[in-house]
Amino acid sequence: MQSDIEKILYDRNVIAQRVHDLGAKIAQDLQSNQIDAAEIVLVPILTGSIVFLADLIRHLPQKIRIGVVSVRSYHGKSTSSKDLALRSEIPQSLAGKHVIIVDDILDTGKTLALVTSIISEQNPASLKTCVLMRKRIPGAPELQADYIGFDIPDEFVVGYGLDYDDYYRNLPDIVTLRPDAL
Ligand code: 5GP
Ligand code: MG
Repeated sequence: MQSDIEKILYDRNVIAQRVHDLGAKIAQDLQSNQIDAAEIVLVPILTGSIVFLADLIRHLPQKIRIGVVSVRSYHGKSTSSKDLALRSEIPQSLAGKHVIIVDDILDTGKTLALVTSIISEQNPASLKTCVLMRKRIPGAPELQADYIGFDIPDEFVVGYGLDYDDYYRNLPDIVTLRPDAL
């Protein structure tokens, strides 16, 4: 696995620091909006966000719940979402809750747009989005999320939960792969 790595984009220490800061910001926003009294539900999009989620939630002192969603994308091993559909049930009873959708990476924005639109139908009290990374594609419009860990160049990355063909999720760093590994 190590020999498949081309370069390290963000090492584990840089990630840990950034996730700590993101968590602190989210916790502060929840507190200053006095949301901590009401129910908070984090909605991670499987599977890529699991490592990020696991680290992020341990920086939140509030009482929270987790409701996972899974999105099926009909694409190749390393290209991004084309046709998307929900693979799982959306957590029910998000009405009146403060919801934060958590994803690994914002690329074309289709995944987040799909999950956001389905969850808004349930009328949550508030709905925010949090992504570990946002890809900046030259010439493309800048996509928004409420919380963004890193703005990255238009490169295919794996590690820290992100996969290629379902492998490499367990790499502690965010890396690019050598062309012969793809
Ligand atoms: P979007 O719907 O925004 O185009 O794509 C988001 C999804 O595409 C992410 O949740 C992720 O599963 C996948 N994706 C996009 N870019 C990358 C990447 O560089 N590496 C990996 N492993 N997945 C990516
Ligand atoms: Mg994903």
